[in-house]
Amino acid sequence: MPELPDASALPSRLTPRQFDRWNDLATASADADRDVIAPFTGEAFAAAPESMPEDVERAVADAREAQSRWASRGFDARTDVLERFHDLVLDRREELLDVMQLETGKSRGDAYVEVMDIAMTVRYYATRVADQLASERRRAALPGVSKARVHYDPVGVVGVIAPWNYPLTLAIGDAIPALLAGNTVVLEPAEETPYTALAIVELLREAGLPHDAFQVVTGDGATLGDPLIERVDYVSFTGSTAVGRQIAAKAGEELVDCSLELGGKNPIYVRPDVDVDTAVDRAIGAAFSNAGQLCISGERLYVHEDAYDEFKTRFVDAVGDLDLGTEYAYGDSIGSLISQSQLDRVQRHVADARDRGATVEVGGEARPDVGPYFYAPTVLTDLPADATAACEETFGPVVGMEPVESDADAIREANDTDYGLHAAVFSADVDRARAIAREIDAGSVSVNDGYVTSWAATDAPMGGVKDSGLGRRHGPEGVKRFTEQQAISTTRAVPLDPVRGPTSLEAKVLAVGLKLWRHVPFLR
Ligand code: NAD
Repeated sequence: MPELPDASALPSRLTPRQFDRWNDLATASADADRDVIAPFTGEAFAAAPESMPEDVERAVADAREAQSRWASRGFDARTDVLERFHDLVLDRREELLDVMQLETGKSRGDAYVEVMDIAMTVRYYATRVADQLASERRRAALPGVSKARVHYDPVGVVGVIAPWNYPLTLAIGDAIPALLAGNTVVLEPAEETPYTALAIVELLREAGLPHDAFQVVTGDGATLGDPLIERVDYVSFTGSTAVGRQIAAKAGEELVDCSLELGGKNPIYVRPDVDVDTAVDRAIGAAFSNAGQLCISGERLYVHEDAYDEFKTRFVDAVGDLDLGTEYAYGDSIGSLISQSQLDRVQRHVADARDRGATVEVGGEARPDVGPYFYAPTVLTDLPADATAACEETFGPVVGMEPVESDADAIREANDTDYGLHAAVFSADVDRARAIAREIDAGSVSVNDGYVTSWAATDAPMGGVKDSGLGRRHGPEGVKRFTEQQAISTTRAVPLDPVRGPTSLEAKVLAVGLKLWRHVPFLR
């Protein structure tokens, strides 16, 4: 049994006993555990149970057993449970924020965004899922003679594999529509963030979710991934492009459907007609929220040359004024990176940029005076196109800025990447900004905002093109992926008996009929 954490290592609202309770909620049978590090201090604060492949097998088997009973409850009963969960997340938010901050080192504001997001996601799907998945009539072979209906059935057990950067949103955000559609879920959270996932299980069960309908296997992703993909009926993965490719390969081998929400190298374009102060403010939000550890974060900033000098001066000044902090309290400071390896990656990108002649306008150094993994918000200019920070995802508080000559130049630069997750365009001319957005290869584009506008539009699909992923979350697309679609067609007469085949006269009549058919609007 993992030892209880020392109370002095915890924020004041959390108690060692709570961790004991959460540890019991993991599906883990071996007597093994894994240290969980608090990024604010770099110290282990608890040891979480280490699930093994046999635990995955048990979790999926139990989830499968529970699935038909959960599905048979119907939309209203399932919605009631998720709405109670919604209320519990809001009521217990301070405790949840503490857990998220403790294991990720993010600021309270960044953690709060996750609570809001879950409330919005539950509300959105709870009020729409019954309509989105209602059986529907489709156009039949011969209107009036035949009928076609489509039914949406749960796929069964959904495996959710989540990263550490938004441990609440990305662990349960996709599971919400999956559960509402009548599936059960086995969640594999990131090694760094088991306790937010276990806190979710506690709240879901308190809200009335049957015991086995949502289970969490904590431990090594590389060990648990294959056994999970071998057994579930759908895989919802969020994480890096490199691991996403492995998931896709394994899912292909198993012929299991999957969605892959992967990395980005997201561009921001600032047109010359903007209000510079507003654009500076929002670009800071785009680049430095969650210390830049955000898949839709802006890492490449293109500013029209007519506004470049003014924008650069104000942007660099404002970035230099940003505070870093380790408080378990609301405020406007930026949090820590999650780990030494994340700090190493950021330092590597900035060192490579310097070596290749880039200018560090502000930042460019670790901040061990604040905490072991803190890094100063950084702006780079003169960044060569082949620098690592120009083409690979940094996933930290670093943005490369450069002037562009025209909209066309900005679009060319924005698209010069293997990624295509998100983009932002700032302009007083909204129609022009929307037209530019249509030219950018990205799954979503925010106009006059860094990313919140896109993410919060829960009714609109969200996902990546190119190396940023496959499939979409949010909107009807985000729940239909968790269903099998069955089409049932009935007829009073078939137009053609395929065994007997048409006579030559029938073939002629049919050909004329098919030609005419195209011109009869009501039959098309
Ligand atoms: P990661 O790919 O290293 O890990 C993601 C998850 O996969 C973790 O739970 C990990 O344990 C698990 N995992 C690792 N190897 C596995 C394997 N072989 N089989 C199965 N599971 C395995 O990513 P990360 O470092 O945790 O997260 C950061 C990345 O996630 C960034 O690239 C970021 O852009 C991306 N991300 C994308 C989105 C999106 O919506 N597109 C959202 C958040 C983060």
